[in-house]
Amino acid sequence: MGYKETIQFIQDKFNSKDFIPLHAPVFNGNERKYVMDTLDSTFVSSVGAYVGLSEKMMAEISQTTKAVAVVNGTAGLQIALQMAGVQRGDEVITQALTFVATANAIHYNVAEPVFLDVDYDTMGLSPKAVSEFLEEFGERRESGTFNKKTGKRIAACVPMHTFGFPVHLDELMTVCAEWNIPIIEDAAESLGSYYKGKHTGSFGKLGVFSFNGNKIVTCGGGGMIVTQNEELGKLGKHLTTTAKVPHPYEYVHDQVGYNFRMPNLNAALVCAQLEQLDSFLANKRALAQDYAAFFTGQNIKFRTELEDTQANYWLMCVELENIEERNAFLTATNEAKTMTRPIWQLMYRLPMYQHCYRDSQKNSEFLEERIVNIPSSVRS
Ligand SMILES: *Cc1c(COP(=O)(O)O)cnc(C)c1O
Repeated sequence: MGYKETIQFIQDKFNSKDFIPLHAPVFNGNERKYVMDTLDSTFVSSVGAYVGLSEKMMAEISQTTKAVAVVNGTAGLQIALQMAGVQRGDEVITQALTFVATANAIHYNVAEPVFLDVDYDTMGLSPKAVSEFLEEFGERRESGTFNKKTGKRIAACVPMHTFGFPVHLDELMTVCAEWNIPIIEDAAESLGSYYKGKHTGSFGKLGVFSFNGNKIVTCGGGGMIVTQNEELGKLGKHLTTTAKVPHPYEYVHDQVGYNFRMPNLNAALVCAQLEQLDSFLANKRALAQDYAAFFTGQNIKFRTELEDTQANYWLMCVELENIEERNAFLTATNEAKTMTRPIWQLMYRLPMYQHCYRDSQKNSEFLEERIVNIPSSVRS
């Protein structure tokens, strides 16, 4: 089948011949009511009940002990890395096939990203690639695992659950435990995704979610740091709220903190959207099933969840046969106002990360040339 049938199918699914975006938010729940609440109460900013409520809801949904609401996912990742002990001059393992925020958050900590390959099936950080890298370069010392070639400490590992498909967490947890390297999950895209029945973001020392405008749940801009460690969670709250020490009237701050707290106005939206998460997930799953059926037997492969996992189908994607087919597909669909986008350019192609270490990148480069996102919005 050609691209015409595909375009027709997508137009039918979204009941539209006009522009069909990749992912548009829907606000059909209590969004207006909760936002009006914040206006009526005048508590729109850094004090207000919705911040605490959104944290409670997220801890419950993500099956973690403590959640900290922040201004966006990128800021959340930056602070999570600091909380995990990443320091100036350290190395942090991550994947090159990711959105730029993952690498930027490492850079904000004046640490160096180490780009390792992804698995073909998950499109996320490969436990095998991590193991091979550590076997070759890792050296266990009292103060942590060091890279014997660069002399730098390998302080953390940041897997990213691409488009909501969980990475092979059991294997990755095993490798990182062997080398005593903390995991910080970039779960920005995987709210509602599970690995063996456990929510993504709950496996690592810390996990980070995003509520950016294009994510499955949005509040305009916002994010959430989650952890199973209550004390660590408290530290996260402290660091993201200018490290202010409670006092009846004095301004007391015990370290350099950040103004990364989520405003109550945005938190109101988070709460209203989270109430609908289950229905969003079901709605997207139904679309994914239709796509899967449609693409069966074609030379365009629709990506579905792996065994033992539940994907949120945040951004759905297809795999084209080669880069020529990919380009032809991108041109035809976008010309027909059906929005499609290629997966990200690998991080080491960007000028600021060109100098960073990378391994073979066989799978990353294969996927970079073939994966395309297709319209994935919740349909009303
Ligand atoms: C969206 C996203 C982020 C950053 O989230 P923001 O809230 O936009 O700052 C980080 N990592 C990945 C993989 C993302 O997709």
